[in-house]
Amino acid sequence: METKIIHITKENIEATAKEAADVWAQGGLVAFPTETVYGLGGNGLNKEASKKIYAAKGRPSDNPLILHIADMEQFYTLIKTDNAKIIARAEALADVFWPGPLTMILPKADNIPYETTGGLDTVAIRMPSHLVARALLQECKMPIAAPSANLSGRPSPTSASHVIEDMNGRIEMIIDGGDVGIGVESTIIDLTGEVPMLLRPGFVTPEMLQQVLGTVETDAAVYRQVGKDVHPKAPGMKYRHYAPKASMVLVEGAQDKVITYINEEAKKKREQGLRIGIMATDESKELYKADVVISVGSRISMDSVAHNLFRALRDFDEENVDFIYSESFDTSGCGFAVMNRLLKAAGHQVVKL
Ligand code: AMP
Ligand code: MG
Repeated sequence: METKIIHITKENIEATAKEAADVWAQGGLVAFPTETVYGLGGNGLNKEASKKIYAAKGRPSDNPLILHIADMEQFYTLIKTDNAKIIARAEALADVFWPGPLTMILPKADNIPYETTGGLDTVAIRMPSHLVARALLQECKMPIAAPSANLSGRPSPTSASHVIEDMNGRIEMIIDGGDVGIGVESTIIDLTGEVPMLLRPGFVTPEMLQQVLGTVETDAAVYRQVGKDVHPKAPGMKYRHYAPKASMVLVEGAQDKVITYINEEAKKKREQGLRIGIMATDESKELYKADVVISVGSRISMDSVAHNLFRALRDFDEENVDFIYSESFDTSGCGFAVMNRLLKAAGHQVVKL
């Protein structure tokens, strides 16, 4: 199919929102910017639309989709409201973090098809804050199921060019709203259990969640690699994610040791004829010798590292490197999300010095 690409401006935002709403009403797919990454949206109440999302991404159908909403009125139509404690927690979080980069898992209302939730009785919901996303969601008046707009297994798209790379010809429309702000996917918290459980770290940190909820636990699968045979709480956890084409190793330790180790290993691998990429930082990039050295940002700002991370992984793909060495980061603040994505990209291959 031919994909219509629209560059959004102040002048065309209303007309574009109407056009996108029409596509969604007819069961089609539209990719659009959010504050986290670009989403690949379809009507979340239409099971055929959800099936199309899985097909366009090449995503396994047991990996559930997140519903994107415009307001709280919509929120209450998508969940079971009989558990007062769960609802109180959700409302407290919504007060502080919505619209914004937080996804909540709640018991699903009957109107949501299992095709959207990957067969689960729970549903993931988020109210994005991005101006374009909000305009679209307000216009269409339906919950939009929207996973990241990349082919399954590839790094999430943080600019329209990434979406075009992966989705051109596969969906009806791509809305180009420039680079996204945050650059890593939303924080996911599961509110269905006795204790709120963090399933995916993001811009909203565990500390921020604890301030609202008191106790928050982190699902073990956030740290560990989960085997293919298990069914973890966040089904996405079992798949290799965000993966560059090259194989990748994370190196942890004191800065000087990390730099020395990576340079030595890169030299050996290059002597074997391999093309080597190094994921460095603004502080270290001059100190490396390899075929491709990419700075992912400054250690002074983990937000900048989060912002650049997926672009850097895609850039290594473009450069056709065979092997990537990456520095590691402290897990405070946004660093937790960054390390989680890096570990997944590296298939949990870590060298500790
Ligand atoms: P993405 O849309 O690519 O950002 O990924 C969506 C992720 O949200 C999935 O991979 C799951 O890990 C998680 N998710 C969505 N719905 C649920 C749910 N009902 N229960 C647990 N995790 C969910
Ligand atoms: Mg994704």
